[in-house]
Amino acid sequence: MDTVTDIKVSFFSAKPYDKTFFSEANKAYGFQLEFFETHLGPHIVNLVENTQVVCVFVNDKVTAEVIKVLAAKGVKIIALRCAGFNNVDLGACKEYGLKVCRVPAYSPEAVAEHAVALIMTLNRKTHKAHNRVREQNFSLNGLLGFDLHGKTIGVVGTGNIGQAFCKIMLGFGCKVMAFDLIANKDLEGMGVTYHPLMEVFEQADVVSLHCPLNDQTRHLINPTTISRMKKGVMIINTSRGGLIDTQSVIKGLKAAQIGYLGIDVYEQEDKLFFKDLSSDIIQDDEIQRLMSFPNVLVTAHQAFFTAEALTEIAHITLNNVLELSTGKPLSNKAALLA
Ligand code: NAD
Repeated sequence: MDTVTDIKVSFFSAKPYDKTFFSEANKAYGFQLEFFETHLGPHIVNLVENTQVVCVFVNDKVTAEVIKVLAAKGVKIIALRCAGFNNVDLGACKEYGLKVCRVPAYSPEAVAEHAVALIMTLNRKTHKAHNRVREQNFSLNGLLGFDLHGKTIGVVGTGNIGQAFCKIMLGFGCKVMAFDLIANKDLEGMGVTYHPLMEVFEQADVVSLHCPLNDQTRHLINPTTISRMKKGVMIINTSRGGLIDTQSVIKGLKAAQIGYLGIDVYEQEDKLFFKDLSSDIIQDDEIQRLMSFPNVLVTAHQAFFTAEALTEIAHITLNNVLELSTGKPLSNKAALLA
């Protein structure tokens, strides 16, 4: 068996902050770390050499085609440094005998707090107020918000992040209605009520999505569900872009059926997010249309991006790799995907 110092971990979609936090965490492990800026996909997989572990993020494309090549090149482990795993073909990983692990929870509060930041910014328009005051425009016209206190918040998915989000919203004095496949008893004890999905959509002033992206949840926000929501509803998505059918939210925004949209994730984000495209001509007309609405706020998948979360992600990822590569069962049970 290889010793830890013989094991190379190759990172894809690596940003400066990945290098910083993983290099720091690796002082306790001693793996060889190799960082590639490019995302993993068919265009690069043939260049992977002498590596046992591939570490990927949300927009790496770990398709059956890629997995087949990785397996042929001797890769044994795919370590996701994120919670969601919709970009990995787990069936193919099993077929080719690759182990797959993820970071099921690092700082659910980081994501929940960002969802709240989107709500507060859209509502109280602090981004506009900041720009206005810097221009010596001290007028309040157009900055009218609403009290969150007493409003109904609809939460879809009350796992780690949804739970943290519900608690913050309860603290704001909101009524919190939720839909999940499994009700969380602790949340119920705090006053969160569970309802069928459509009831949540019909009654919520703010709908916040915290469920994973899968065949059941893809385009959960679609013309039918939008039409059942309150006129002027606020929709917040910090989960995965594919939960929203972009065309239908554009129509909903134009018709004022949707009053506010806050998204940290976007269905076609892999071509845009985590890159500086400030000198490029963006070819994606849907994101351009979304960004043109005064009541839409887009952030580029930054909800997880706190120092605490990155420290946790690095430690949990490297610990997963250590345990898998030394044949131990994962101490973090929910981390094992295949
Ligand atoms: P989790 O697994 O702890 O919770 C997900 C919850 O969704 C579970 O309670 C599950 O029962 C529920 N669920 C599953 N299918 C459902 C359905 N059809 N309808 C309603 N609920 C359903 O996951 P988490 O850690 O809370 O993360 C939630 C999602 O947030 C992840 O899947 C990931 O895509 C996303 N995420 C985004 C960021 C970011 O930076 N924007 C960071 C981390 C996670």
